[in-house]
Amino acid sequence: MIMLVAMALLSQSVVAQEFAWETTTKVKPLNLKRWAKYDVGQINFHDKATHSEGSKIYHRLIAEPEAYISEQARTVLATLYFSPKDNITPVNSIYYTLEDRAGISAKGGGNGKVSIFYSSRHVEKSHSGQGDEKVMFETRGVLLHELTHAYQLEPQGIGTYGTNKVFWAFIEGMADAVRVANGGFYGEKDRPKGGHYMDGYRRAGYFFVWIRDNYDPDFLRKFNLSTLDVVPWSFDGAIKHVLGEKYDIESWWEEYQRAVGDKK
Ligand SMILES: [Zn+2]
Repeated sequence: MIMLVAMALLSQSVVAQEFAWETTTKVKPLNLKRWAKYDVGQINFHDKATHSEGSKIYHRLIAEPEAYISEQARTVLATLYFSPKDNITPVNSIYYTLEDRAGISAKGGGNGKVSIFYSSRHVEKSHSGQGDEKVMFETRGVLLHELTHAYQLEPQGIGTYGTNKVFWAFIEGMADAVRVANGGFYGEKDRPKGGHYMDGYRRAGYFFVWIRDNYDPDFLRKFNLSTLDVVPWSFDGAIKHVLGEKYDIESWWEEYQRAVGDKK
């Protein structure tokens, strides 16, 4: 019953999403059936904040955290890949903790052993502002972002997340693109204006989804998979690989900025 209420609240929010642009490509709904049997890894939920108000709210809204997390994992996989036969980043286990500490959420670990923490204080903050609906919306959105880090492919030949800004911008941009693509933000309201895709996160994420919506419905999948073929990886190299040699990333950014009205 609680789950049903939560799902109803959530679907309302997803429907409410509106962008500054029209979708001109045929973006198909995710084929989650294709992923039903995919092994998303062993998911272990550990509540380290049982004393907190945030923990009470979380459990009232999410009756089965492990099932909930695997459901979102399948959404992420279906957004990043064509099918379970793709060259997917293997995830053996996900240790998900609810913790009474500052921050929102973060992913750690690697080599198939992933850990994700979620702040019970952030749950309380969401709730005191806008109640249950906001908590569900925020929890799912943040989870889509962090789970993307678990399953996404990473650039090769250009250093690491900590040493290379292109690497970082792509990783964080894709995580927010998956969130944008699945109704995890409040559409245009949450879209930061101006800036540059090298700022990562939403500035890159909304841009990637715009390309998907206007030029190639499989763009996010192809962009993710481009890391296997474009070595050393670059934004421009990946754009050329996915959309064609005549394109370049800066012109796309310019066009996007005009299309959404940030630049006249
Ligand atoms: Zn991130």
